[in-house]
Amino acid sequence: MTAQASSPPLADLAARLRREGLVIASHNPGKVREIAELLDPFGIAVRSAGELGLPEPDETGASFAENARIKAESAARAAGLPALADDSGLAVAALGGAPGIHSARWGGPERDFALAMRRVWEALEELGRRGEDGGMPRDAAFICALALALPEGPTHVFEGRVDGEIVWPPRGGRGFGYDPIFVPRGHALTFGEMEPAAKHAISHRADAFRKLVAALFGARG
Ligand code: IMP
Repeated sequence: MTAQASSPPLADLAARLRREGLVIASHNPGKVREIAELLDPFGIAVRSAGELGLPEPDETGASFAENARIKAESAARAAGLPALADDSGLAVAALGGAPGIHSARWGGPERDFALAMRRVWEALEELGRRGEDGGMPRDAAFICALALALPEGPTHVFEGRVDGEIVWPPRGGRGFGYDPIFVPRGHALTFGEMEPAAKHAISHRADAFRKLVAALFGARG
């Protein structure tokens, strides 16, 4: 079952997470730390899939939500505990949502994001050249799906997004991935130029977390 920020809040689930803690279904220490910090104010202790030696499942889903669900359910079953996973990426409208769930792979085996950003831009330039009005289609969004799975089910999925546009050349040395070519709507700076706190206040990950926290804890989120 999938539930977007539901009402009333999942209060029983919040109490269970405080009792049992939560497995973060990630082997990326940076991501685990970030999620642990976000959950700390709510009295939820976290352990990572890496710490528990859990296997990493293949991400065979066709969407961010499916891949987050695969990771969360695999960790919840293996640990016998509630588990949380995220999956995220850049979706460019004119490219049919690409690079999407393949965002990390567009950088090749070396995860070279200079290359990945250039590939995005060259694909847009090609479309721009073919377009009748000569305009460059720049609309894009960062998307983040968070899946919270219980070992016996169900799984709740929360999706966050931030809309914006692609710019070229890349600007700013902060952030990671595609941040230097993404300007969020209503802003002038790329995510790569923004202070981390400014990015974190409006990011796709923050949006998904707000929905998760609202569902679990109500208005406190
Ligand atoms: P993952 O879900 O952590 O594996 O992230 C997938 C990929 O999406 C990352 O490697 C980045 O390429 C891209 N991505 C996800 N979130 C961001 C972001 O906040 N900024 C820039 N790139 C991102």
